[in-house]
Amino acid sequence: MNDCIFCKIIKGEIPSNTIYEDDTIKVMMDINPKTNGHLLVLPKEHYENLLDIDDNVLSKIITYTREAYPMLNEKLGSQGLTLVNNNGEGQDVKHFHLHLIPRYIGEKIDMESSNNRSEIDEIYNKLMD
Ligand code: AMP
Ligand code: ZN
Repeated sequence: MNDCIFCKIIKGEIPSNTIYEDDTIKVMMDINPKTNGHLLVLPKEHYENLLDIDDNVLSKIITYTREAYPMLNEKLGSQGLTLVNNNGEGQDVKHFHLHLIPRYIGEKIDMESSNNRSEIDEIYNKLMD
């Protein structure tokens, strides 16, 4: 999709903090994190939402997510993981993506606003260590 920001990121036309990528998926830091280490997992192919994403691609996204959960706990000291997937109303970017939001003891998240966060680059370096 020519005007899709996530397709542009996948093509390398817009920079991102990439955590992982293979032929099927890309994992990057959310530019406006709800908590430290907020990641987005997206298919490299453009699917708009949960209704049209290919089952095998969705399965790869879930497999990555299950691997990422303990990795995030270990590297960032988080103690939980909240998954969010917006479709239609509430979905700002119309390219399927799963939010991985690490959870920290005593820290609430507000899905409608953003919290002050440590620098994204600092967290990125911890994850890539
Ligand atoms: P949603 O409302 O589920 O479509 O969320 C879109 C998410 O994409 C938001 O959390 C944004 O902060 C995030 N986002 C938008 N542009 C970028 C970008 N260039 N790099 C990383 N994350 C982005
Ligand atoms: Zn796209």
